[in-house]
Amino acid sequence: MQLYPLFADLTDRPVLVVGGGDVAARKSAMLLRAGAKVTVGAPVLVPELRELAQQGRIIYRAGAYQSDWQDGMWLVVAATRSRPLNIRIATEGHAQQRLVNVVDDPALSSFQVPAVIDRSPLLVAISSSGAAPVLARRLRERIESLLDPALGSLLQLAQRYRARIRARHTDLASRRRFYDWLHDGPVHALLRVSQPTHAEQQLVTALSRREAPNIQGSVALVGAGPGDPGLLTLRALRALNEADVILHDELVSPEVLDLARRDAIQIAVGKRGGGIHTSQQSIHALLLEHAQAGHRVVRLKGGDPFVFGRGGEELAFLREHGIACEVVPGITAALACAAYSGVPLTHRDHAQSVRLVTAHCQHSLNTLDWSELAREHQTLVFYMGVSKLDDITRQLLAHGRAPDTPFALIENGSLPTQRTLAGTLAALPVLAAQHAIQAPALLILGEVAALAGASHWHGEWLGALPRHGAVAANLANAA
Ligand code: SAH
Repeated sequence: MQLYPLFADLTDRPVLVVGGGDVAARKSAMLLRAGAKVTVGAPVLVPELRELAQQGRIIYRAGAYQSDWQDGMWLVVAATRSRPLNIRIATEGHAQQRLVNVVDDPALSSFQVPAVIDRSPLLVAISSSGAAPVLARRLRERIESLLDPALGSLLQLAQRYRARIRARHTDLASRRRFYDWLHDGPVHALLRVSQPTHAEQQLVTALSRREAPNIQGSVALVGAGPGDPGLLTLRALRALNEADVILHDELVSPEVLDLARRDAIQIAVGKRGGGIHTSQQSIHALLLEHAQAGHRVVRLKGGDPFVFGRGGEELAFLREHGIACEVVPGITAALACAAYSGVPLTHRDHAQSVRLVTAHCQHSLNTLDWSELAREHQTLVFYMGVSKLDDITRQLLAHGRAPDTPFALIENGSLPTQRTLAGTLAALPVLAAQHAIQAPALLILGEVAALAGASHWHGEWLGALPRHGAVAANLANAA
């Protein structure tokens, strides 16, 4: 081990920052957060530091560096642009046994500042001993995404109740069970959904009982996005990391499932495009069974759970049965497919609204208000429409939508296998059949779809529209 790891308590201890630029400002801010008494010495200060000096939050020593600035200091940070000056500060500091950090210069430093993940009171510090700062930064990002922001509040709460928890659960095993419950149970869950008062009440109630409470199960309805694992939210990733049981749709990509905790039980429910599928009732029953067994259940759905995902029914059902729930939104197919095919859904020159429409079954098609849908200057997005393209086209044409209205039909949006077919409404069913477009595919119809020709950037292009330049030129001429 080349460096000795150290967490320093700098509360009210004098520290010196030499330099008045942005770097010095950043270092000073960090030291102030740790409660240090910061002196900044420099000929001039950036506005940020000047303001701190005016507010009396830092002591300002104006002018060129003087050796006696170091008197009485615990730590010294050299953040000047002059290497000879940094060398002088370091040499003088070392001679007086100060801990000295010269910014970005491990060779001159006797201490280094790690990359930090702050969930105070929890701090995670990472150092590569100066060998690989980029790696340290990447690692920091990874850990940031794993530790949920509510962890800090949980630990603060635990800190405040520590003595009472200890008094109530005197033996170690019982205390461990209690802390497990604190981390995995409702207190943490409530803090995550910003209900600190309620969380504290739960803690107090639990402390009034002799036994450590059993862990109650919970369900998170999580949107897995359209397939590209990069489109998961951080919250979804954390839920996958913590899940005991995952009930997922067929639509959820294997790449996303790979991110789940290794020992989580994975259950596939529902089969797309006909075939055998798990009924909604049995899905409800499974969710309830696992939650009541005390598991953390993730109900993982393609896209967003509340967009044609029956998430609403599941949430209502679980709430009726008193199960703790949370909903993590996902990027719905409309947004993902539009982005990945270069179609701005509400480009201000072409569309004032977007409609998300389901073409799931004949009944849903028959009950749509087609004359409404056939209006110009709105964007229609059809989900589950691959087998209904004939009907959709016929209805729209019959109700007056122009035959040359542009469309983009995106198959496997956001995945490496994405294909984008573009053309005009009248030719839609024929083109889709020619290219054998399969589910999952999403139909975007409206003036904005023409922009895919110029802006499409992901996957295979099957456009009947001219690819580059021409479309943009047509639009410019039309304007
Ligand atoms: N809850 C999901 C939609 C479920 S309905 C969401 O918010 O996206 C299933 C339909 O979504 C599919 O028939 C298809 O029309 C669309 N869809 C989902 N993922 C898709 C993808 N990667 N590419 C294209 N369409 C997709």
